[in-house]
Amino acid sequence: MNIIVLVKQTFDTEEKIVVEQGTVNEDGVKFVINPYDEYAVEQAIQIRDDAGGKVTVVSVGPERAAEALRTALAMGADEAVLIHDDRIGHDEQAVAAALHAFIAQEQYDIILGGNFSVDNGAGQVAVRLAKMLGIPHTSSITKLDIAAGKAVVHRDAEGDLEVVELPLPALFTAQQGLNEPRYPSLQGIMKAKKKPFRELSLDDLNLDVGAVAARTARTELQLPPARQAGKIISGEPAAQAQELFRLLRTEAKVI
Ligand SMILES: Cc1cc2nc3c(=O)[nH]c(=O)nc-3n(C[C@H](O)[C@H](O)[C@H](O)COP(=O)(O)OP(=O)(O)OC[C@H]3O[C@@H](n4cnc5c(N)ncnc54)[C@H](O)[C@@H]3O)c2cc1C
Repeated sequence: MNIIVLVKQTFDTEEKIVVEQGTVNEDGVKFVINPYDEYAVEQAIQIRDDAGGKVTVVSVGPERAAEALRTALAMGADEAVLIHDDRIGHDEQAVAAALHAFIAQEQYDIILGGNFSVDNGAGQVAVRLAKMLGIPHTSSITKLDIAAGKAVVHRDAEGDLEVVELPLPALFTAQQGLNEPRYPSLQGIMKAKKKPFRELSLDDLNLDVGAVAARTARTELQLPPARQAGKIISGEPAAQAQELFRLLRTEAKVI
């Protein structure tokens, strides 16, 4: 079973976001594997351990994204590919096109990605890639069973559960609950240093700059307004309810 996992390196959600001149300041910031992609890596390792085969992790991003790929190798992935080229545009279409150029040349049974990335929140790259490859996909999965060339998945349909059966090769995006990602062991970290790690540019992929041009542009980026202090209503419950009603009507103007 050949499994490709899409790994995006994202801002650690614990970090404080500072916006300067329309961009997020990255100085001294800790970067991690997108948490949803950790579920994808874990699932791929489990399938490989059961069925044999190979797990390849691939990322499109700056050189620092290599750290995320090395973490995935230390978890147990077999090889890594970093597609790194400043000419690749910064939107979901451009990233999906770059991933497509690499993956279309590979042998694969399963592609796993994250449900969405915690920085952009788009949930588009993986499903655009499935469309470009012409393969079926199911997003937001919480269970994946593979048997006889088919996959049966549970899909989180915004609170409801869908059970979907589809033929392989297919692409899935991981939702929280799919598994419990392992931490890299010391032995895993040492082994990762010797695993194959390829760096590819547009020239290696025979890709024209136009194919990976962004089709969207961000016009503005700003932090949400700071939260106002809360208000505590005291007194007997009946008086509190009356005061709450008055405030909702006269100040918040929501009723
Ligand atoms: C269930 C759901 C409901 C939503 N509802 C709303 C709504 O009501 N209103 C609204 O405005 N928005 C909504 N959104 C958000 C909207 O869809 C997002 O703004 C948008 O689609 C952003 O994509 P992304 O950055 O999250 O994901 P992507 O960036 O597309 O990431 C998805 C996955 O693709 C792979 N990937 C991404 N980048 C790379 C890379 N560079 N290299 C390798 N792999 C990569 C990773 O596996 C990643 O986990 C919703 C999203 C979801 C998932």
